Amino acid sequence: MPRKRPRALRAQQPLRAPRGLPAERIHGLSLRTSRAIERVERRSDDYYVHRGATAHALRRYRAFLRPPGRRPRYPRHSECDCRGCSFDDVRHARDVLETVLRQLPPRPRAELRHRVRALDAEYAARTLPDPFADRRQWRAHLWWRRRLANGHEGAPPWTAKT
Ligand SMILES: [Zn+2]
Repeated sequence: MPRKRPRALRAQQPLRAPRGLPAERIHGLSLRTSRAIERVERRSDDYYVHRGATAHALRRYRAFLRPPGRRPRYPRHSECDCRGCSFDDVRHARDVLETVLRQLPPRPRAELRHRVRALDAEYAARTLPDPFADRRQWRAHLWWRRRLANGHEGAPPWTAKT
């Protein structure tokens, strides 16, 4: 079997990233910030802040806000609290983003915060305040958890089958 010429091989490789760091950007963020995030994820001892968790959280947050129109959206609980299923609850995605933001150095933090704030504004506009959040919502000191929830995502809570 003919060996590939080294030059051809080299041409196939993506731009080299420092060892252990991703060569890929997180959608909407600079490479520098993506790498800073990856570093936080790698060093984190938080079960939910694992490699790729931030990108997942951003995708989840966007997906929650994606349906067009002005009808309110209702976060829902996840059925299981493993790393994967937890993202069924968009509020978990926001928790993960907050945890990562707190651990980032100032410049990457500012960049990620800018993205998150834009999504926060949409989230605030498309969810409804829960006047009984202190009684009803878990971790109600977090503003994104003081919203009406528990329904089917996209449907009001009072239509939930539980
Ligand atoms: Zn699960």
